[in-house]
Amino acid sequence: MQAAERQPPLHATMDQFRIANGELLIGGMPLSRLAARVGRTPFYAYDRSLLSQRVAQLRAALPNSIKLHYAMKANPMPAVVCHMAGLVDGIDVASGGELRVALDSGANPADISFAGPGKSRAELAQAVAASILINIESFREVAILAEISQTSGYTARVAVRVNPDFELKHSGMKMGGGPKQFGVDAEQVPELLAQIGKAGLAFEGFHLFSGSQSLKPEAIVDAQSQSYTLALRLAEYAPSPVRFLNLGGGFGIPYFPGEQRLDLPSIGANLADLSKRARQDFPAAELVIELGRYLVGEAGVYVAEVIDRKVSRGQVYLVTNGGLHHHLAASGNFGQVIRKNYPATIGNRMDGAVEPGISVVGPLCTPLDLLADKMALAKADVGDLVVIFQSGAYGLSASPQAFLGHEAPAEVLV
Ligand SMILES: *Cc1c(COP(=O)(O)O)cnc(C)c1O
Repeated sequence: MQAAERQPPLHATMDQFRIANGELLIGGMPLSRLAARVGRTPFYAYDRSLLSQRVAQLRAALPNSIKLHYAMKANPMPAVVCHMAGLVDGIDVASGGELRVALDSGANPADISFAGPGKSRAELAQAVAASILINIESFREVAILAEISQTSGYTARVAVRVNPDFELKHSGMKMGGGPKQFGVDAEQVPELLAQIGKAGLAFEGFHLFSGSQSLKPEAIVDAQSQSYTLALRLAEYAPSPVRFLNLGGGFGIPYFPGEQRLDLPSIGANLADLSKRARQDFPAAELVIELGRYLVGEAGVYVAEVIDRKVSRGQVYLVTNGGLHHHLAASGNFGQVIRKNYPATIGNRMDGAVEPGISVVGPLCTPLDLLADKMALAKADVGDLVVIFQSGAYGLSASPQAFLGHEAPAEVLV
């Protein structure tokens, strides 16, 4: 085959946002007007209607019996968490700080759960007092929770986070199978359950989470089915009936050229099947999936302003006031092995003639501060607005803001 006939793979079309008069619309508002309303650049903007739409699409594809939780580490902005709390069935937190935001959001404490290795004694005490569900990840946590329950008089509600003996295949980040810092190895769970029973903690169920950012429905189906089977096996050792079975998540979104949006029907069909089996196997249980990125990632953009246009030995650089200190993931330094470009555009020149090979960089004194490497973008100059798509998850809160001492970006929910 001749190389010249091969089309390079393209980014998935970012058609979740409409365009009018040459401008990208965020929350229905032209980007330049939104920038004026925010009052400064750079900023993150999250589109409220897209958040609602994503949850509605997901609910339509999944059986009604499946409960949907939002893993708020993907985007902990309080306004976003409040909005999500009104849409989903529960919030998953990963720290005492996130727990405060989740409680403020108005989510019912009964529907908040807390996972994470290395929970401190203070965080565990906070969680017990709040009456949320704690996903136990070690024998140490059982001992501390027993003590807290005894001294406080509030009984800890617990589930067991299992480190499964399998992993989510083809996922961006594996979080199960083999030795892991997350959860308790499946083979040690019977002993852990015995200790939970002895300590008099309120056992509610199991939490299995085997990976993140998967775009392969068959891999997700496989992981969810295996999670179910493993839970069924472990339930024999449980001190009381299972009331809560969290089958994890791992749904991905397309970031890079050649990636497509996840196809939901087979996942929905499998969950319907598991749900039916659960009526026999776990009659008292609700089945839960927990998603972060998939719920919020596509609804967000990061917007930086061009402050210089330089040409170095033929290479055009758009130098912006934003960069890796605000958006580490888009710079390729948050778990990517080979750097690839996030989808990007010049948001106030959507009809503009495109020039190839443009690089977008930030103001930091490091060559790692790269937002787009040799991309085709509309011809842009000082004052134009570079938009990085797929920025609603693992954006600001996953970036080293203090690096080089620039101002924090604004964050708005539109
Ligand atoms: C990070 C995390 C999630 C969310 O993962 P996404 O890939 O954002 O959906 C869910 N559950 C647990 C336990 C996590 O650690």
